[in-house]
Amino acid sequence: MPNYFEALGVSDADLAVARGLAAGHFSGQFGEKYKKYVARVGAALLEIYPPAHKLQPEEIIDLISVIDIIGPDSRGLMKRLKESCTGCGWCCSQTKRIVVDEEDTLRISRKLKQKREDLFTFDGKEWLIKKAHPCGWWNPKNGRCVIYADRPSTCRVWPLGVTEAGHKTIQPMEHCNYAVMVTVNKAIWTLESAAKQSGA
Ligand code: SF4
Ligand code: SF4
Repeated sequence: MPNYFEALGVSDADLAVARGLAAGHFSGQFGEKYKKYVARVGAALLEIYPPAHKLQPEEIIDLISVIDIIGPDSRGLMKRLKESCTGCGWCCSQTKRIVVDEEDTLRISRKLKQKREDLFTFDGKEWLIKKAHPCGWWNPKNGRCVIYADRPSTCRVWPLGVTEAGHKTIQPMEHCNYAVMVTVNKAIWTLESAAKQSGA
């Protein structure tokens, strides 16, 4: 398997940790969703970046799943790729669990002058928007958030999310073009940077 990561100065130990975490994504919290996501990113990568055709399918899967953990900063790419958001509304209408910070539950209920328990629910581990799928604050007529200026931090950083293990990764949602394009660009960055480093 090509070691782009060695060319980028990633140690074998860090790479092994990242591969272990990636394996956990395939079998754990995200499972099937994660496989579909990686497949969609792989297809987009091959379409947009012809040099990726030199890679074997398993190398593409390895690259995509690992760079989300040790690749370039997602926030920088998210800023650059804002236009990749198609405005489809999937993130506000199809997500069954919208996890929020406790601080957001206090801030938003205070701002809306409503009781916190009417807007949010605590499942013993995390705070969630009570009315999700679609979110009660999503306007299906124009696809906009009616509390946009006060929306929870989860919504502000989407498609960046935090896994159960506490790692910041792109939400593996194949329906979200924004998430897909951020990951595709991480893969391209990795391949191009490694090629430069190795003088190819
Ligand atoms: S609070 Fe607003 S941005 Fe967040 S999921 Fe609901 S509609 Fe979308
Ligand atoms: S799901 Fe992704 S592409 Fe669709 S509106 Fe949300 S951020 Fe944009």
